[in-house]
Amino acid sequence: ERMRELIGNSPAAAATDRRIKSAYKTPVFINNNIHGNEWEGTDAALKLIEELAQAKDAKTAGLLATNRIYLNVTANPDGRIAGTRANANGFDLNRDFITGSQPEARAMRQIAVDKQPAVMLDLHGYVNGTLIEPTTPPHGENYEYDLFLKNSYA
Ligand SMILES: [Zn+2]
Repeated sequence: ERMRELIGNSPAAAATDRRIKSAYKTPVFINNNIHGNEWEGTDAALKLIEELAQAKDAKTAGLLATNRIYLNVTANPDGRIAGTRANANGFDLNRDFITGSQPEARAMRQIAVDKQPAVMLDLHGYVNGTLIEPTTPPHGENYEYDLFLKNSYA
């Protein structure tokens, strides 16, 4: 907890702290199925959990030693059950992060606030062609796709 306080209170000092560097695990947040009828993210999340839990290879051990992986298996359980894009209240949760009118959107937002993910994957589904934002144009103005491609895509 001292390290967390140092990061919060004195980020410049934390950036050069060798204990923090050696103990730090990069937070990765994988959000899935925000649109209830886009099933593939949940399938991928469950498969990933199974693979990570059963892996015995050094590469996976290294991955888990240096990363904290947070998975939201389904961000829209109402929509998933009903087979709809929206939740049971009729909201597109992917358009509700600013307003936070829906409990699912508030929960996802709180995960981002609490865990401060360095990388977030938001897995949707196959809809009218494949869009892998931020790697596929047109790029949204809120995505630093050039940095993502260079530093995170692999
Ligand atoms: Zn979607």
